[in-house]
Amino acid sequence: MHVLILGGTTEARRLAETLAADAPDVKVTSSLAGRVAAPRLPPGEVRVGGFGGAEGLAEWLVAHDVDALIDATHPFAGTISLNAAAAAATAHVPLLALRRPGWVPGEGDVWHEAGSLEEAADLLPALGRRVFLTTGRMGLAAFAHLDDLWFLVRSVDAPEPPHPLHTEVLIDRGPFTLDGERGVLRRHRVDVVVTKDSGGAATAPKLTAAREAGLPVVVVRRPPVPEGVCVVDDPGQAVQWLGERLDLDGFRVDD
Ligand code: NAP
Repeated sequence: MHVLILGGTTEARRLAETLAADAPDVKVTSSLAGRVAAPRLPPGEVRVGGFGGAEGLAEWLVAHDVDALIDATHPFAGTISLNAAAAAATAHVPLLALRRPGWVPGEGDVWHEAGSLEEAADLLPALGRRVFLTTGRMGLAAFAHLDDLWFLVRSVDAPEPPHPLHTEVLIDRGPFTLDGERGVLRRHRVDVVVTKDSGGAATAPKLTAAREAGLPVVVVRRPPVPEGVCVVDDPGQAVQWLGERLDLDGFRVDD
């Protein structure tokens, strides 16, 4: 049995770890895009780099005898998810999307929803002057024209231009603590936060820190999961789905 996990997330790594521990007979290959210089690697085989679109992925599935495909990519990695849906259909391989749940505003949150990074940029001048931008280094061009605002850009690797004129970069990788996030907001006198609705616990403390400080947060909505694709929201459910699909003998489902 061969399972291909499209990864780059904590959930993808957890799934690979669970399969390595509980289903040692299943061959697991994790696929990373290669965006991060020193990624945290899951157990099992790891391949790095694009497949060459949906067609390339379909060919890879057939050439490597893949029995099931798990799209455990980040909720905002929309292209690879569309490619996964198309490739799975072409290669007749069962596909499951593993997506952590999105964040939900609580009492005291001042959230402004945006449909895209461009929409988030449009909202900013009316909300603040000192922006904590946590949407990653890839989409900075959407904010590059905002010369009157100051940006604290946090990313795993250093961003490349185009980015806003007044940019300070904070190289860091989650999980982040509430105390740490309070400190970032205070030290940099942040008055508005921008985030994608990534979901999960690792990067959520910034939302609590913003709520405590009474700061507005611009939350970029997720792209939809491709139509017809089955979705679960935690690695345990993905293990269960695989157990049913692959008819694995003695397969343990603990969590
Ligand atoms: P994307 O826009 O959906 O994908 C762009 C292209 O990158 C795809 O067409 C594919 O190239 C390649 N690719 C993406 N994920 C891949 C994977 N897991 N394995 C092999 N190739 C992959 O993706 P993205 O938003 O740039 O994200 C890239 C990776 O970073 C994803 O694995 C994602 O899980 C992770 N990540 C993304 C974000 C985010 O906010 N977008 C945040 C954290 C982590 P080909 O067409 O050549 O196959």
